[in-house]
Amino acid sequence: MTEHAAGSRPPAIDSSRPHPARRYNYWLGGKDHFAADRESGDQIAAVMPSIRTAALENRAFLGRAAGHIARQGVRQFLDIGTGIPAPGNTHEIVQAVDPQARIVYADNDPLVLTHARALMAGTPGTIAYLDADLRDPASILDHPDLHKLLDLSEPVGLLLIAVLHFVRDDEDADGVVAQLLDRLPAGSWVAASHATWEHTPEHVVAELQKSNRDGRFVPRDGHRFADLFAGRIEIVEPGVVSVADWHNDNPARAAAADVMCNALVGRKP
Ligand code: SAH
Repeated sequence: MTEHAAGSRPPAIDSSRPHPARRYNYWLGGKDHFAADRESGDQIAAVMPSIRTAALENRAFLGRAAGHIARQGVRQFLDIGTGIPAPGNTHEIVQAVDPQARIVYADNDPLVLTHARALMAGTPGTIAYLDADLRDPASILDHPDLHKLLDLSEPVGLLLIAVLHFVRDDEDADGVVAQLLDRLPAGSWVAASHATWEHTPEHVVAELQKSNRDGRFVPRDGHRFADLFAGRIEIVEPGVVSVADWHNDNPARAAAADVMCNALVGRKP
């Protein structure tokens, strides 16, 4: 449960610094955040008032995409960058299609682990949670707890929802995606979303960069996002679009410029 790749994760919850999972929970209207997370979340919301809408649209995309993949017959899911549980968790979506569907969650925030333990207690045998880092795919793919639930010779639904923008190019974002997809069999599916500033005015980007001095957050445009998967999956209709626009006919959905996050769903041929 708590195997750590060398030096990649803090040993305990550090409430003094903002963390993406808790800040995201704050934007979603959850209760699991500290003062530092709220402060950072408010700073970003001051420059980008639509950030809460963006978080909600991203979460809604997760639901539509996971449901779509489950309806294609996929019964096992690997959800990396799980986040703190919120309405519409992956297991709720895919187990509504088949209660026997199996889900392995992985996140590198220890707070997520705490919540996930509580969540797993109510769903014995179908969910596992790994305290693991996306930047070290082997630590996820070789984890014994993953293999207790997932059979990697059968199609897997890989979910990378709002997490790839935390992997920098110099941390080999391309290699990370490649390693994950190369271990999954043909017929596997991927759903991913990725922050973008391609519709964001320059002065807003300049403001946003102030809360990103460590460069931990790496928005990519839609082409670069799709490139991470190039040659490994066939992206299904409607291609790379705003998370709000992916298989969503709600006329009240948010505009791409407000959501600042692209989505894609694809199948490994
Ligand atoms: N997928 C969820 C949560 C997105 S928030 C959703 O769409 O609703 C991003 C999540 O990615 C956070 O929980 C954060 O802790 C996690 N994360 C960030 N960097 C990570 C890394 N290197 N490895 C694993 N998880 C990471």
